[in-house]
This record gives sequence, structure tokens and C-alpha cells, in this order.
Amino acid sequence: MDPQPPSPPLTAALPRDVIHVFWHEGMLDHDTGAGVFDTCFDPGFLEVLDKHPENADRVRNMVSILRKGPLAPFVSWHPGRPAHLSELFSFHTAEYVEELVQANVAGHKELCPGTFMNPGSWGAALLAAGTTLSAMKHILDGNGKLAYALVRPPGHHAQPCRADGYCFLNNAGLAVQLALDSGCRKAAVIDIDVHHGNGTAEGFYCSDNVLTISLHMNHGSWGPSHPQNGSIDEVGEGSGFGYNLNIPLPNGTGDEGYAYAMNQLVVPAIQKFEPGLIVLVVGQDSSAFDPNGRQCLTMAGYKKIGEVVRKLADMHSEGRILVVQEGGYHVTYSAYCLHATLEGVLNLPAPLLSDPIAYYPEDKAFTVKVVDSIKQYWKECVPILG
Ligand SMILES: [Zn+2]
Repeated sequence: MDPQPPSPPLTAALPRDVIHVFWHEGMLDHDTGAGVFDTCFDPGFLEVLDKHPENADRVRNMVSILRKGPLAPFVSWHPGRPAHLSELFSFHTAEYVEELVQANVAGHKELCPGTFMNPGSWGAALLAAGTTLSAMKHILDGNGKLAYALVRPPGHHAQPCRADGYCFLNNAGLAVQLALDSGCRKAAVIDIDVHHGNGTAEGFYCSDNVLTISLHMNHGSWGPSHPQNGSIDEVGEGSGFGYNLNIPLPNGTGDEGYAYAMNQLVVPAIQKFEPGLIVLVVGQDSSAFDPNGRQCLTMAGYKKIGEVVRKLADMHSEGRILVVQEGGYHVTYSAYCLHATLEGVLNLPAPLLSDPIAYYPEDKAFTVKVVDSIKQYWKECVPILG
């Protein structure tokens, strides 16, 4: 008698979410150089120079963990593409785009501290923008509810008329504008990169169609390229008043503190706003081991954030989430934390990967006080939350 074929595992019959990942390897061509941290300065007395934190290796590992890690069966891959120049004007000024084009022609320019345009950079920036637009279009066309734009250079510091913080073009901002132009009435941006999402905030500062929320380290302004300070009183202007919500968190906030901020601040704000679509702007530089951040999230914290955002999307935006990649500079741990975030977005019941290095003794008491005071401020000053 022939042996019976093994019966398929039960889980194979269950409907399974897929996340549509958009990527193009041309984004690796942006060479940010090496030196002392992000200065690209060689003092001459160091034996080993660091790569600039925003280097191709960090993204190589993100691609690799999604291709070969346990989340691979949940990933559907799609090719990215360069943005056309004409697509950039929905967020950026023509003068600024021309400045970038000229910097590319010149072959090298430091647009602001740490932000270098080198040969290959402009092509990568156009790919990051176009790839994010493709990911958004995939959702808007009804081809999937969850999409992830795996892009670099990052974008959330890029303002309509200036570069900032390793960013040239605001990938998430362009995608949000595409959603609005395609008939989406209201979109929400939840930015968990450790730095203030000033570029995206600036782009929609006078709009009540876009609720921008940024959770970040309380770093304040960092010079002419980043005049915004990310404080709670930057709430928007004109008809946008009350539609920009900054959540500056204390150093070392950790998983529990972030969960508290998400549940006490982000959840009620999204519930009041009722967006048709949520853009989750992710940076793994909020992790416990990032060279650029001090916020001490671990994989468990990232997974939790992904779960909370998924729940909000299921309630308010038909489950539609575009995830956009920003910072995250630990070459190994950023990939792990990305994996954990997407596990949360996919609503997987248990982690598929254990945390290789997490150890951070948390004390959320101070964060709770800060979050409670922000909540009180919003109650008094933000009309939709009053
Ligand atoms: Zn960042």
C-alpha cells in the first residue's frame, strides 16, 4: 500500500495576512561615506573610521531578515521605482527640487550637517520616493491592505523646501499627499522614529486632512535645517490647528512607557480623527541599542506598537496601513526590531523571533507623568480632544 501523503498543517487552511514589501536595490547606491560618526570627517588619528550611521548595510539586513527570517512566508515582494520629478512638487517646492538636481550635477554637496549628496544619492532618493508612492498606490488601488516601503535615504525630516537629518525627499509625505489626491479624505501619520518627524509635520501643518503624530526623544531644534522643536505646543496652524500632535518622551522611556503613550495619547487621538488610512512611520533608532537614540525600545515594544496601530487601522481605516522606513542605525538590531514591528502589524499572536540582546531595566514612572501632562495639555488646547 502506498504511504499516505502527510496531511497539511492546520494553519495552512487559515486565511493569512500578507504584507506587501516594496524595495529596489538601487537605494544601496547612496554612499554616505565614513568618518567620525556622521561628519564624514577623518581626524587622521583613528585607526578605524565608522561608516556614516545611515549606510547601506543597515538596509541590507532589513531586506535579508524579511527574505530569510521567519516572517518570509508573510511577505509579498514588489519592485520599487524612481519618482518622476513632477511627482515631487505635491510636497516640495520647485526651487528646492532644483537645488537637489544641481547638487547632484555638482557631484557632492553637504546640504546640512550629516546630509551628503554624493554620486548615486539622487538616484537613491528618487527611488525611495517612487517606491513609497508605489506602496501607497498598491493600497489605494485595493491590491492589499498592508504595505511596507523599505526605503533609504529616509525622508521624515525633509521639509517642503529643505533637506534635514539625512533626508532629501519626504517619502511618507509624498505618499500621504497621493492618498489625499486620490480621494482619501483623512489620513493619519504615526511616527515612531526616535527623532521628531518635523518634515512631515511642516508639510501638513496647516491641514486638517492629515493628523500628524510624532513620538520622539525630547531633542528640541538642532539648527537651521531643523527649526521646529517638537514640543507639545507645536499643534498646527490655521485650519490645521490641533492636527499636529507632538509627544516628546523622556530619555530611556522603554517598552512600557511607549505602550502607555500609545494607549493614552495616540489611540484616543486616532479614534477622534477617524482616518481613512494610517501611515506608520518607523525608525528603529528608538531601540535600546541605537547609536542615534536613547529611547530604549526592545523588540517586544516594537511588536506592541505594531499591534496597537493594526487594531486602530482595523477599527477606522479598513485595516489599511502603509509602513514607511526611516532611521534605525544599529546594523543588526534594527533588522530585528523591524521584524518585530511587522509581526505586530500582521497581528501575529506570538513572536517569531526571540530578542537576541534585549536587556533594559525599565521604570516607566517618569514617562507616565510626562504622558499624563501631555494628555492634560491636549484636553485644554486641542479642540478635537477637548
Ligand atoms: Zn531618526
